[in-house]
Amino acid sequence: MTTPSTTSDLPVLDHWIDGVPSAGSSERTGDVFDPARGVVQRHVRLGSAADVDTAVGVAKKAFSSWGQASIAKRQSVMFAFRELLASRQGELAEILTSEHGKVLSDAGGEIARGLEVVEFACSLPHLIKGSMSENVSTDVDVFSLKQPLGVVGIISPFNFPAMVPMWFFPIAIATGNCVVLKPSEKDPSAANWMAELMTEAGLPPGVFNVVHGDKEAVDALLVHPDVASISFVGSTPIARYVYETGTAHGKRVQALGGAKNHMLVLPDADLDLVADSAVNAGFGSAGERCMAVSVVLAVDTVADPLIEKIRERMATLKVGDGRRGCDMGPLITREHRDKVASYVDVASADGASVVVDGRGDEVDGDSEGFWMGPTLLDKVPTSSSAYTDEIFGPVLSVVRVSGYPEGIELINSGPYGNGSAIFTNDGGAARRFQREVEAGMVGINVPIPVPVAYHSFGGWKASLFGDAKAYGPHGVDFFTREKAITQRWLDPSHGGLNLGFPQHS
Ligand code: NAD
Repeated sequence: MTTPSTTSDLPVLDHWIDGVPSAGSSERTGDVFDPARGVVQRHVRLGSAADVDTAVGVAKKAFSSWGQASIAKRQSVMFAFRELLASRQGELAEILTSEHGKVLSDAGGEIARGLEVVEFACSLPHLIKGSMSENVSTDVDVFSLKQPLGVVGIISPFNFPAMVPMWFFPIAIATGNCVVLKPSEKDPSAANWMAELMTEAGLPPGVFNVVHGDKEAVDALLVHPDVASISFVGSTPIARYVYETGTAHGKRVQALGGAKNHMLVLPDADLDLVADSAVNAGFGSAGERCMAVSVVLAVDTVADPLIEKIRERMATLKVGDGRRGCDMGPLITREHRDKVASYVDVASADGASVVVDGRGDEVDGDSEGFWMGPTLLDKVPTSSSAYTDEIFGPVLSVVRVSGYPEGIELINSGPYGNGSAIFTNDGGAARRFQREVEAGMVGINVPIPVPVAYHSFGGWKASLFGDAKAYGPHGVDFFTREKAITQRWLDPSHGGLNLGFPQHS
């Protein structure tokens, strides 16, 4: 799938259209870095509107048979894909680490969470069963069917190049849709690898297509008359734009956006558990997770000992090349690393104290890599952009609060509502939190409450535009439309002419 470039010695990643690699018609390409070495390792095609049109046309043609394929056939492909993915996940993890930078063990975790959704999709024959009511009126039955939408678009972010596409395409395809995926141009190779594996699993050509690109390809998907729906994951401004543009063009849209996840620590919490959780959730994947904890709201009385415990744990973290058994890898690009690093000065100028400054950390990796070590800020003013912005890097802020009321007020006054956690041993306080917090996913003594595949994933407020979350029951509903059928088989007792609105008898 990777062919030599005509303009440099580096390989160029093609689109995947109709079951084979395709160069498309656009001349534009983007750079794909190895963030741990700071070098461009390949280029990726940046598709044009014409390339999107080609892929959508191919998908539309494939839908005429895939949409009619038996449940047994669709299920057998999903089972085969599940087996292939489970046995070859090491290959995919290496791709993720080399283009995203996350450490290999974390790449394995990403794949495992995607695999869960594939397994959920294997059970779709059960989930797409309709319902039936017999004899709703004399000799009249009503039943419902769930049918696929047609061609569906998926647009994914850089931070989970395998898992986020797998939140959507297994369910979309199992329910009979045909897919055009536009992955992040920053780490695009995982998408082709998965598409090729689906082909190996027996998926007919044209059912799963990948068009690489940037805004041009996204815009083409958003306005294409033959694209029925858009599933988007990325930053809030783009999620809002995608939702507004897609719905204005008559599409069903689910657009998951950014986050600023808080963890509220009450004085009775187990501080060792809290410190482990804060470090894991703050610095895992270098903080480039939409469910990362970026703010610890510590009740004043326990803030000092908690910060000490967090600092002790941070000192043990090894930052470096994800292939070398480190705890934390680099950031995705040099620009992003610089932006993340700039928040340390911003916070400090705004009055925060810098407890641990990771900017000069020694790393086990190439000096050109996009490094930023774990950083801890204390007493961050809530007016500072270090508090209000989604930093999306290894910067953990502590904000001290007087108690539960101030903590919940702060959480609920923010624009995002992705995930939120409370740490306490008081069941009553936890129960109050679960009722009062304005977030789509809530952790109780759990820092990263990502729901399992058979519950749906999604936030509230500026973290999700649209009313359908990803995967689980919401995913099945999103990728199908229901049809209610009212039937009567002729009987000598039928009632003849009646212009009144149908009533039951
Ligand atoms: P991004 O918004 O920059 O990009 C996401 C996708 O949109 C990419 O495919 C990109 O090519 C495309 N895109 C970028 N700019 C565009 C534009 N102007 N017009 C049209 N399309 C455009 O996001 P990212 O940096 O790749 O990912 C990180 C963000 O994603 C963070 O904000 C993170 O919180 C969020 N995220 C959210 C969730 C969630 O479930 N809520 C999950 C993962 C990531």
